Amino acid sequence: MTEATVFAQLEIPETIAAGPGPGNTDSRVLARFAAAGIADHMHPAVLRGMQECKRMLRDVMGTKNVHTFGVAGTGWSGLDTMFSAVMPGDKVVMFVNGTFSGIDGLTVRMKAATAEELAANPMDPKPASVTIVNVPHGQSVTGEIVEKALAEHKPMWAAMAHYETGSGRVNDIRGFSDACGKHGVMGLVDAVSSLGVGDFRIDDYPGVAAWASCPQKGICCLPLTYAPVSFTDRYIDVLKTRGCRTFDHHPILEARHWGIIDGKDVEKGTYHRTHSAYAVAAFHEALRITLQHTVAQRAKDYVFHEAALKEAVTAMGCEVTSNMPSLVVLNLPGALKGREKELVESCRAQDFGIWPTLSEPVQVRIGILNLLSAAAISDIVQRFGAALREMGADFDQAKVDQVLDRHYGGRAMAAE
Ligand SMILES: *Cc1c(COP(=O)(O)O)cnc(C)c1O
Repeated sequence: MTEATVFAQLEIPETIAAGPGPGNTDSRVLARFAAAGIADHMHPAVLRGMQECKRMLRDVMGTKNVHTFGVAGTGWSGLDTMFSAVMPGDKVVMFVNGTFSGIDGLTVRMKAATAEELAANPMDPKPASVTIVNVPHGQSVTGEIVEKALAEHKPMWAAMAHYETGSGRVNDIRGFSDACGKHGVMGLVDAVSSLGVGDFRIDDYPGVAAWASCPQKGICCLPLTYAPVSFTDRYIDVLKTRGCRTFDHHPILEARHWGIIDGKDVEKGTYHRTHSAYAVAAFHEALRITLQHTVAQRAKDYVFHEAALKEAVTAMGCEVTSNMPSLVVLNLPGALKGREKELVESCRAQDFGIWPTLSEPVQVRIGILNLLSAAAISDIVQRFGAALREMGADFDQAKVDQVLDRHYGGRAMAAE
């Protein structure tokens, strides 16, 4: 008999999570996570916490949709729940402008494929009923692109990422919603990177029938708890008529534990699956923090700090191609082209967690999720500049300092 190997306790260091996500979880969220007692998923305090989360989430998302709750897991869990209503043979138009909307497109193709189409290419089906509209990396999906495609194809569903985190582009949600409304199409939106970052109310976009987000980006809850989702009655009616092929990610069934039954809020949720007291406590605190800060103020803070970071890296000779408020996607200065991954690796080796793009072309991504202070941005700028210099870049530090000075005055280097 061989002896079992017991490894030493796992130590994970603190890093600067300066990527597209996960974001920097607030210490208050971690404190609530650790302070929760062991209690099962039908304990009154856990159920009450879920009820309160549901109500706070409606305020964060800006909606009266009764089917608004969290799906246990990550962004893809919420997205899988949202796409569960898409059935084999359904006509869908999917707009793709980067890594994540590309994967949304794969999800849609898997759901809409007939049995024969799936068997023909199990890992990458190409159903005849799905049209993928590819928008080049670095560009946004515009209202005109959506309008043209929906007018031509007249699908049942259309899907798009609100913010495409792969290329750092904000897509035209107003144009998308309007085109969906005009053509009687049900819009499905991946709001994984926009919720808690941008200032928007989902009820202002009536062409969108369903939304899905994640816990660990704008909501800043890395203990992976709940992916926020919200469904209009229109979407729920489709499910009621046609059903869907999942228990776990069934929007109507999953809602029951959150106290949403037969389209109404009820006092006590009923069992759907096990929920963790720790997860509920952490998610609850993350939503409280978001509402205390307010979605509007948070959005303003992102815009303010992203502008400083963008200008600072531009002063270093980088070319920024993104327009997302929580993320800068850039090309390195000419002489360093082709060395993006090397640069990212050297930063990551020092627990400065920036990222390359995950699909072509190779670019560098620096995110500021929950890094909304002069001190945090100045630290990122200083570290990134040092890494560039180490690779031989030459830029005028005084210009970079001027940028930070202009944005932050004397506060730039002061600890906050
Ligand atoms: C991060 C991201 C996802 C995936 O989220 P996970 O939490 O990794 O499952 C999907 N879509 C977009 C737009 C994202 O930014």
